[in-house]
Amino acid sequence: MEPWLVAIVASVAFAGALLGLRRSRRTVARMLAAAGASSTAEPIGAVNALRDEADRTAQELAAERHDHDLLLEWLAQGLILIDRDLRIVAANAAAHGFLDRQPGSLMGRTVIEAFLDAQVETLARTALDQGSAVGEMARPDPAARRLLIRARRSAAGGAWLVLEDVSELRRLQQIRAEFIDNLSHELRTPLTTVSLLAETLTREAEAAADVIPLKMRDRIGKIEVETGHLVQMVSELLDLSRIESGGSIGAVDQLDLGQIATDSIERLRLFADRQGVTLRVDRHPPLPSVQGDEERIGQVFVNLLHNAVKFSPDGGEVTVSVRAEAGRVVTSIADHGVGIPKAAQARIFERFYKVDRARVRGETGGTGLGLAIARHIVEQHGGTIWVESTEGVGSTFSFGLPIPAEP
Ligand code: ADP
Repeated sequence: MEPWLVAIVASVAFAGALLGLRRSRRTVARMLAAAGASSTAEPIGAVNALRDEADRTAQELAAERHDHDLLLEWLAQGLILIDRDLRIVAANAAAHGFLDRQPGSLMGRTVIEAFLDAQVETLARTALDQGSAVGEMARPDPAARRLLIRARRSAAGGAWLVLEDVSELRRLQQIRAEFIDNLSHELRTPLTTVSLLAETLTREAEAAADVIPLKMRDRIGKIEVETGHLVQMVSELLDLSRIESGGSIGAVDQLDLGQIATDSIERLRLFADRQGVTLRVDRHPPLPSVQGDEERIGQVFVNLLHNAVKFSPDGGEVTVSVRAEAGRVVTSIADHGVGIPKAAQARIFERFYKVDRARVRGETGGTGLGLAIARHIVEQHGGTIWVESTEGVGSTFSFGLPIPAEP
């Protein structure tokens, strides 16, 4: 190719890049091909071919831009693009609707002017600094609409805010929580009575073993076990709805997780002995204290320990280890039991999820609520909970709670 032709191609490509032509690399390749093909023809023909190619690319980009803008306008979700100074540089129709603004009137406004909510400004700043952030706000309108806001840093250095109206979802969640709460309250009293009666009946049947046939005693025993499960399920449902609707944690105590581990082991000792499982605790000092509600964190330990014992073989060992690492205290509860299949690991923290109802020894089948409760409590404390498990080898459930910064 002629050197002057290469210079023209390079300048056109450079101009294209300056104009922000995202597909400049492909364009240059096509230009070079066109130029190469016409290198034996008149130079003017080659320049014309290049100009036509540039025109076509510009038209394609304009059409693409038009489609892109149309799509943004059509979206039911509100979309807002802000720059580094938290000023709105683009906003679609839904965003204007959610914020009760005239079309186009959001442009150039700051986040605080648009939302009138300091929390959204903080959220936008967090996304700019850290890459992403999520939050929810109540609109100060008579319907008190709730907006879920997801913010993510854009490639150009600003951030996208995606707004979603979740008022209806939150209303339905509230109805569901109240329904479960009311139902559990109503069920608890009669069920507790039935369970106590079944317990008494079992004792009396055992005492009168010579007159009551074995088959009948068996049936009475089963009624007692099943009512026990029902009582446990109702009380866990109540716990869950109380924790879910509670929002943030109640009492804030200084917690020594090593001590809570030791206390929880003592609470589970009898159950572990009956299952033939040994319990051990490994405390790795120094262990800074964390902040939280002692009763609820104790419940997390008990739920995880209870599962670890329940899914361990006779003669098995369960170890609780507590250590500080990377700004948090991590507690791990490891067993050598049945393990959890990979596909189920992502779902076991959902309420009512059980891997396989036939895997538990004896009659100690659970409700499928224990891990959901544990996850809620840990997340309310600003922590995370996770599992590592291999089928047939064992499971380790861990949760990390943040160490508060020095005052
Ligand atoms: P459940 O009351 O059924 O134990 P959870 O929410 O505590 O309910 O646990 C959900 C499911 O996760 C259990 O039914 C079980 O299938 C699985 N699982 C929990 N912990 C363990 C464990 N340590 N080993 C194997 N499977 C477990």
